[in-house]
Amino acid sequence: MSMPHAARQVWISEVGPRDGLQSIRTILPTDAKKAWITALASAGVPEIEVGSFVPASVLPQLADTAELVRHARGIAGLTVAVLVPNLKGAQRAIECGAHKITIPLSCSETHSLKNVRRTHAQMLDEVRGIAALISSLPQEQRPHFEGGLSTAFGCTLEGVVPETKVVALAEALIEAGCDEVGLSDTAGYANPAQVRRLTRAVWSAVGEDRLTGIHLHNTRGLGLANALAALDVGLRTLDASMGGIGGCPFAPGASGNIVTEDLVFMVEAMGLHTGVDLERLLQARAVLREGLPDESLYGFVPDAGLPLGFQPSAVS
Ligand code: ZN
Repeated sequence: MSMPHAARQVWISEVGPRDGLQSIRTILPTDAKKAWITALASAGVPEIEVGSFVPASVLPQLADTAELVRHARGIAGLTVAVLVPNLKGAQRAIECGAHKITIPLSCSETHSLKNVRRTHAQMLDEVRGIAALISSLPQEQRPHFEGGLSTAFGCTLEGVVPETKVVALAEALIEAGCDEVGLSDTAGYANPAQVRRLTRAVWSAVGEDRLTGIHLHNTRGLGLANALAALDVGLRTLDASMGGIGGCPFAPGASGNIVTEDLVFMVEAMGLHTGVDLERLLQARAVLREGLPDESLYGFVPDAGLPLGFQPSAVS
């Protein structure tokens, strides 16, 4: 299953266990989560965001994140990612041995205050604290540290988020000690032209090696169009969630994140290598379906099946 990183032309980061499960009411039992994570990794998914270190009182769905990190760490070749809201969460993530930690910084300060009750300045203090903690560790124990620019494409509370603000926050995150920033379309407001423009704007401020990934939602049906724009402009890490779980409660039929199965199909059909085996990915979906019998699972490829004669990308 695990092939060298360089062989993958597009890096799929599965965020369903975090973004998907935090958005639905059903609490998937820990054993079912473990089985799902194992099935995803067996299909060749190289990175999984297994949870978030937020208090269980806030998100009881993700209360078992520490156990899931330990489980996922036992899977050879898998990059284990988690979300952390603050320094305390980062400490827990590091204790469990997460490979990658992401702290979300909402470009909309209104959203930040409502979600984590912190201003941008306070969030950047957390980032500096986490960066200091990481640099105090021996080199081989340091997780990759990303600052996620959430609501980068628009916000349900503030509406338009100026691109100059996103760029300034990207610079501030790097200055505060993040290894990398990521663009996040939290509200599903992005369009393809905006994806290209904002990526280039952030690149010119912090450098291309400091922004390689994007997190997209399919709230308005533009998820795959935005993913294609991201690939065209040169981003190489795409977040997606199996079955697009966590759909928008105000938009019936709209999936949450872009659907991993459909994304992998698009990328592989275009001849780009993901390292993910689609047949086995659909088997992983069956594992998820078993755990969540009453939740909506989205995706066109799982319903329609693979086209006759479909050939996944060949690695030369
Ligand atoms: Zn999201």
